[in-house]
Amino acid sequence: MKSQDIRNKFLEFFENKEHLIVPSAPMVLKNDPTLMFVNSGMAPFKEYFLGNSEPKNNRIADSQKCLRVSGKHNDLEEVGYDTYHHTLFEMLGNWSFGDYFKKEAIAWAWELLTEVFGIDKDILYVTVFEGSNDADNLKMDTEAYDIWKQYISEDRILKGNKKDNFWEMGEQGPCGPCSEIHVDIRSAEEKAKVDGKTLVNMDHPQVVEIWNLVFMQYNRKANGSLEALPSKHIDTGMGFERLCMVLQGVQSNYDTDVFTPIIREIETITNTDYGKDEKVDIAIRVISDHVRAVAFSIADGQLPSNTGAGYVIRRILRRAIRYGFTFLNTKEPFIYRLVDVLSKKMGEAFPELKAQKQLVENVIKEEEASFLRTLEQGLILLDGIVKNTKGDTVSGEKAFELYDTYGFPIDLTALILSEKGLKLDHEGFEKHLEIQKNRSRKASEMSTDDWTVLIDDTEQEFIGYDFLEANVKITRYRKVTSKKDGEMYQLVFNLTPFYAEGGGQVGDKGYLQDAHGDVIYILDTKKENNVIIHFAKNLPKNLNEVFKAVVDDKQRYRTECNHTATHLLHQALREVLGDHVEQKGSAVHSKYLRFDFSHFSKLTDEELRDVENFVNARIEGKLDLEEHRNVPMEQAIENGAMALFGEKYGDTVRTIKFGQSIELCGGTHVKNTSDIWHFKIRSESAVASGIRRIEAITNDAVKDYYSETNKAYFKIKGLLNNAQEPVKALKSLQEENTSLKKQVEALLRDKAKNLKGELKNEITKINGVQFLAKKIDLDASGIKDLCFDLGSQVDNLFLLFGCEAGGKAILSCYISKELVAAKDLNAGNIVRELGKYIQGGGGGQPFFATAGGKKPAGIEAALEASKSYIE
Ligand code: ATP
Ligand code: MG
Repeated sequence: MKSQDIRNKFLEFFENKEHLIVPSAPMVLKNDPTLMFVNSGMAPFKEYFLGNSEPKNNRIADSQKCLRVSGKHNDLEEVGYDTYHHTLFEMLGNWSFGDYFKKEAIAWAWELLTEVFGIDKDILYVTVFEGSNDADNLKMDTEAYDIWKQYISEDRILKGNKKDNFWEMGEQGPCGPCSEIHVDIRSAEEKAKVDGKTLVNMDHPQVVEIWNLVFMQYNRKANGSLEALPSKHIDTGMGFERLCMVLQGVQSNYDTDVFTPIIREIETITNTDYGKDEKVDIAIRVISDHVRAVAFSIADGQLPSNTGAGYVIRRILRRAIRYGFTFLNTKEPFIYRLVDVLSKKMGEAFPELKAQKQLVENVIKEEEASFLRTLEQGLILLDGIVKNTKGDTVSGEKAFELYDTYGFPIDLTALILSEKGLKLDHEGFEKHLEIQKNRSRKASEMSTDDWTVLIDDTEQEFIGYDFLEANVKITRYRKVTSKKDGEMYQLVFNLTPFYAEGGGQVGDKGYLQDAHGDVIYILDTKKENNVIIHFAKNLPKNLNEVFKAVVDDKQRYRTECNHTATHLLHQALREVLGDHVEQKGSAVHSKYLRFDFSHFSKLTDEELRDVENFVNARIEGKLDLEEHRNVPMEQAIENGAMALFGEKYGDTVRTIKFGQSIELCGGTHVKNTSDIWHFKIRSESAVASGIRRIEAITNDAVKDYYSETNKAYFKIKGLLNNAQEPVKALKSLQEENTSLKKQVEALLRDKAKNLKGELKNEITKINGVQFLAKKIDLDASGIKDLCFDLGSQVDNLFLLFGCEAGGKAILSCYISKELVAAKDLNAGNIVRELGKYIQGGGGGQPFFATAGGKKPAGIEAALEASKSYIE
């Protein structure tokens, strides 16, 4: 059965059991501070399990893109070495939100596997939770055991411990026992030798878990204790690629049709054969896996970058490049060429990939080129380190520097060193790595208390589109402590006018006021798992009062100007540059806006002017806001709105229209475009290959900008003696300056020539060294030239020159190369030591070095002290 059909069969089966089939949610999470990427099928449904919102249907099934490369689930280092763990994989799942429980979940899993897919039940094992003797003191899951008994012989039901058979969402939250289904796909011969039962959960590549059925019945509280959930849920996850392996009768996920087309392409491009050499095979598996993870992330709007989720993606791609570089000998970008097969293979189930193929290819290609340059550079640096290494061990500190500053991978360093017969101080490297990790861990440490519930009501209404003030009650609050912000309180209201950060727009600020006029400030507003959370430094005195909640209207208004301008800018870019322009990210602040979009070249000055003019014409056109809430998605698309990749939309959406500009948007906007006053682009730049960024300002910020520029203009004019034509005056000043510079240079050259003659006569011989220490009136670069000039004429030379420039002191030391070797002198060390006389420091090479300091009066003493080095 083809993989495509397997996926469809799964979904069809659960559709027939009254499940609503939904598309995969985007892989990059935006509203969850505890998780960067979706790492299991349930992550996009967390808000339902937490009871924050109601699911569309109490039975749902889907195939969810998951990424396990950071945090609690991190399989990255396994990938390539084994045949059944991936970074990105599809998790097939069926869910019950307070509807069916263990009986149906088990019965249907069994029916699907053995009847629909026809898997021989004699290759299956199942596990149930055995209970725990720890603080939780949980009983064995006899309920699941008794249900399984009806389908499978008892010697195939294994009891498992907490690690394998008790599933938890995180430190806190819903959890419960689980039952896993394992397959044993070894040959009959192997099975006769070793009983499959003993291999379950033992990391055997042919005895693997395919499906996990989680029975959520508890909630883990912040203090670590468990409480029963009011309604029980089912959460199941089956590895799609592993299922394909079983149904296609192969021994490795990489031999299924999910991977073989990619692997054939790698073989062709790199002129290798899969299945001949283990090292090559690992590299091919790594690359065929990683290209999927990276391509899907970019299609979901997460570009490789230097921080957060973007950095994780960059590291995955670099791992693939490195395996290619080391084991397939690829010195040119090639991974981007795999995107074509990938999008042909997966494009039907995941249209985002097909639609953005070109962008994905471009971004990957540029990342590859740039990292290959890093690798080359790193090889040169490593050569230098090797040359300076005494003995046979390269220091961990040097290797760490190479890794940390230049991004050169440590395993590559180790490999190259071992090829040269050298050792690497692994311990020293680990020590430095640990220090760095501790530093960043400390910075991000955070503890979150349980919610204190004041009013047991999870309904929460957002009224901020229509009101900036409201009387509210606090329904729950909790304390969060972090290194960054110290202690903060998070408050939830029954209704709120505060807009929570989202859709690129910042969260509202403002205050809460009680009946006595006491105020606490709301510093930010964010959404977490669909709950609007207000951040404050303190709690109000009496939590149970009714408060007046007031949004900072000035900040809100400026933000709205920027948000509406962002829509107009989007329209302008499509108009001026073409329909290929798609939004790739935006940040709407009160002070400025930032807009990222796909486009393949730098915007010309003329294009930028056209874009600006287009937006300003819409502002002058005084267009009214036309807002529609609860529009069915299809209707909105029909009306001309564009859905963005990587965004999660509900069945109904809100549309924002100004003239011809229409967008799906949850943000807040001005009532009329004339409120924006004016739009001004401040910068245009590249974010990645094929992605440009515009930063712009509106309203007061433009006024400030013009008034600042105006001020600067008059200041310049004043400095030019109020010239009638300042531009002309400035130009002639520049010309004069150029010609004066030339004259000065010529004079300095003459002076140096004369000086050289004089100085040569002043050189004295001490201990066989030609020595001169003197304060001279020349700039630093003149002194350098002078030193090398004298050096080429006089052997065994030691020079120390001091000079004064702009109230600072500079020492320059020159030592002939033969002296450096013969007398073990080092100019770098010498200036560093003499630097103390001028209250400064410096360094350089053994034969020439300089030091700068803030005490010119110390120059004489330094010159005097220099004699001691040769005496
Ligand atoms: P394993 O022990 O094999 O790592 P797991 O216990 O981490 O699996 P779950 O978290 O229960 O797995 O995920 C549910 C299912 O998803 C698994 O039964 C498996 O089929 C699949 N799965 C988990 N991790 C991966 C991965 N890295 N690559 C491919 N499939 C996976
Ligand atoms: Mg795992």
